[in-house]
Amino acid sequence: MAKKSSNIIVMKFGGTSVKNASAMSKVLEIVKSGKEQNPIIILSACSGITDKLLRLIQDASKKTVKMLIKEIESIEDYHLNIIDELISKKEIKKHCRENVQNMIQQLILLVEGVSLLRECTPKSLDAAASFGELLSTTIFDAVCRSNKLDSVFLDIRHILKTDSNYNQALVDFKQTEYLLRKNLLPMSLNGKVIITQGFIGSDGNGVTTTLGRGGSDYSAAVLGSVINAKEIQIWTDVNGVLTADPRIVKNAVTISEMSFDEIQELSYYGAKVLHPDTIKPAIQKKIPVRVLNTFHPENRGTLITSGTKVNTAKIRSVHLKRNCINLTINISHSEITELKILDLLSQLYKSGIKIVTSSLVDNKAFIAIDNPNESHQNSIKNILYGLNYKIEIIELLCICGVNLKSDPDILQKITILLNRFEPESVIYGFSSNSLIFSVSDGNGAGAMNEAHRLILDGK
Ligand code: ASP
Ligand code: MG
Repeated sequence: MAKKSSNIIVMKFGGTSVKNASAMSKVLEIVKSGKEQNPIIILSACSGITDKLLRLIQDASKKTVKMLIKEIESIEDYHLNIIDELISKKEIKKHCRENVQNMIQQLILLVEGVSLLRECTPKSLDAAASFGELLSTTIFDAVCRSNKLDSVFLDIRHILKTDSNYNQALVDFKQTEYLLRKNLLPMSLNGKVIITQGFIGSDGNGVTTTLGRGGSDYSAAVLGSVINAKEIQIWTDVNGVLTADPRIVKNAVTISEMSFDEIQELSYYGAKVLHPDTIKPAIQKKIPVRVLNTFHPENRGTLITSGTKVNTAKIRSVHLKRNCINLTINISHSEITELKILDLLSQLYKSGIKIVTSSLVDNKAFIAIDNPNESHQNSIKNILYGLNYKIEIIELLCICGVNLKSDPDILQKITILLNRFEPESVIYGFSSNSLIFSVSDGNGAGAMNEAHRLILDGK
């Protein structure tokens, strides 16, 4: 019976999942166990390689190939070592080594070109960076075939079409869908496991482009949405989206299901696992996205959907933004109006200052600012000149959840916790989805652990 494209799943593995032979063999096991679902496998470059390639090509504008040959050889050896460790079938190994060596020759030509011109353009950066994904996928395809998986290597640049905005190219969805349905889908429906690259594409002239750093998640979302996949899996090195950063909260746990809105809120306050913008194409098409751990595939991870509804009031996660400042403007002494405050906010914003949140309480305006640098500090001084204001270094604790406002018990519990831990804290706002408050510098981790206890208590 003909299989429909909606049975296909997209599995994207990040840089740490393919960083060496042992990680790649974990990926192989995962792909094997998912092969019935017609997976399309999208890989990042081995972790650290994109950085190395970009550095190499930038250096090429100032140095000769001879001066850079050690760097190039180290990239080559890195990949050849993985082949030697992982591929036992003689013929496949030999062929794969040759493929990698050929790619390295092309890289040398590129380095030579940039070195001769003494100019590294955005185009050259993309061309160089693309080798990272091309190498990791070349190797993984050979690994699959030497393990009797019916895989096929696909150069995604023939399918994922973009504009010519090098380094940050925009996807041409129409062209991509056309090419994908014409060229990729038939292979996939034929039972082949397709191995292809994240992050890269090509423009109308066939010139290599990239979608911006970390762009492989976006590639997965683009291909998954265009093909109408059953699910998009983002395989990484943590157990999905957690209730808190495990480096600060030791007993953080995985959030099993969440909505797109929720992950958007989380990422705004600092959660880093998955940037919501990268999965937008999937969410728009209501394709479920699951975040999983390559090194603990037994963990179910986090399922993100457009419609997950949690009805009961619940605190779901806690986040900390360090290196912030709180700006308190005393309104009563300077006779300024709310309108004036809005005007100040807009001036601060226009000078590039990152305002996280603000509130107006008892004749005081509180403004929380993220990561201000020296020039921001100077702008603040200029903009607030003549006003009665105070600046303190703080950390911002954000408690995220659902329907928080509907349960007075939750507010009470948080208020008690706050008062005990940080009586001076500023509460910036309490909405259905979040409560943000300031904690004095150095107190954030403690407050975060206290707040996290409310999650474990089932609040
Ligand atoms: N390899 C690319 C990068 O390091 C893309 C990715 O990993 O998603 O930015
Ligand atoms: Mg990555």
